[in-house]
Amino acid sequence: MPHRRAILFAIAFLTLAAVSILVAALVLLGPARRSARYNVLIIAVDALRPDRLGCYGAEGDLSPAIDSLAEHGVTFLNTTTQAPATGPSFSTLMTSRYPIVHGVTSSALGLEPDQLTLTEVLLQAGYQTAAFPGSVILHRKSGLDQGFQTYEELPKGPTPYRDASEVNSLLLPWLDANADSTFFAFVHYMETHDPYRYHGPDTPYTIERDYIETVYKEQIDLDEAELAGIRAAYDSEVAYVDGHIRQVLQKLDDLDVRRRTIVILIADHGELLYEHERGFGHFRYLYQETALVPLVISSPTLPVLNVRVPEIVELRDLAPTILDMLNIPVPKQFEGRSLLGLIYGESSQDFLLAFTMREPWTHLPGGPAYALRMGDWKLIHFEDGTDFLFDLSSDPQEHTDLSKKRPDITNSMRDRLSKMIRNQIDRVSAMRLPESITKERLEQLRSLGYID
Ligand SMILES: [Zn+2]
Repeated sequence: MPHRRAILFAIAFLTLAAVSILVAALVLLGPARRSARYNVLIIAVDALRPDRLGCYGAEGDLSPAIDSLAEHGVTFLNTTTQAPATGPSFSTLMTSRYPIVHGVTSSALGLEPDQLTLTEVLLQAGYQTAAFPGSVILHRKSGLDQGFQTYEELPKGPTPYRDASEVNSLLLPWLDANADSTFFAFVHYMETHDPYRYHGPDTPYTIERDYIETVYKEQIDLDEAELAGIRAAYDSEVAYVDGHIRQVLQKLDDLDVRRRTIVILIADHGELLYEHERGFGHFRYLYQETALVPLVISSPTLPVLNVRVPEIVELRDLAPTILDMLNIPVPKQFEGRSLLGLIYGESSQDFLLAFTMREPWTHLPGGPAYALRMGDWKLIHFEDGTDFLFDLSSDPQEHTDLSKKRPDITNSMRDRLSKMIRNQIDRVSAMRLPESITKERLEQLRSLGYID
């Protein structure tokens, strides 16, 4: 792999040198791998599956804007979220900690003020900070507003989501006004979260949450045409949001700030589209459809083009990576690892494991559940004692449970997983209960499908 990367880097250097005197100079002088003078823009697309994106091999050209980021940057092929739920996952992104450790194991819980966030670190470093959430789930009570000077939370109203065009109508003027500053902006789009709206050339339609919930709860067999219609709606949301991302990238170009802006494309979790258990959505499931997220980094601090990193990395690794690119010391509270070395083909021995857990207060069959990926092996363990073991190299769709055939691997992975969970719980004394949450808030979250 390092050899292949070396070739890629050589190509990247040569191409960049040919097209840009500035970058050629950087190469000759030894490129600055880190700098504190760069803006950071995180584009978070809720429930976006990597397998719908061209840069992850998808057909259909749904994502030209995201693909253009990848062509000028790094694509991480195996990024695992730590929770298939919005609040816990974004809390991990911001704190670089596992959910039990930062305390937000459910979207019904908010991040406590004593948790240090990436935003607070960047604010301390002199950044202008702003967030543009697309959903009520990122209400200020989520605690994710910590460190943001501007926080455009969704006002209370009949709809729990904003359209991407509305998000952009807030973000783009803010970029205009802050183009001369050094900024950290976080933008969150909800399009790929249900309900799925079809925006294509044919008559628009919407797949409502109630419908897909009924399919799951009544275990309805969908015929191919129905399923294709739902997946087409999801795909059309991908294309729709990509078009809005294109507007943002165009704005960065128009303002001439792209050359000093690190742009990151991420999702909080993926989305199941009937591949397992006749289910849709995310918070119930730990399959790869929900556990894998896209991660693309396009950074003027990295003299690389179209590099693809296959190692298993975690969402909690993102914050340290950003600080590392900016040459800002990574605080000891952050527990993820910088991915900068991986991008340069350095040691990959630490990147073999990934941890994911679903909301522990669930009433779902099997109770609380956890997943551990170790190389190509994936264990899903339920607290009722049920285990599923999959070999992702031969069975990437996770259809063949090998837990009985390979008890050796199942047992050793379950031991490892138990130790990881025990270690997290020991450090916080006990998992926080969502008992302080009001009934109204719980009802709101339940109606949105964020908890069961
Ligand atoms: Zn989400």
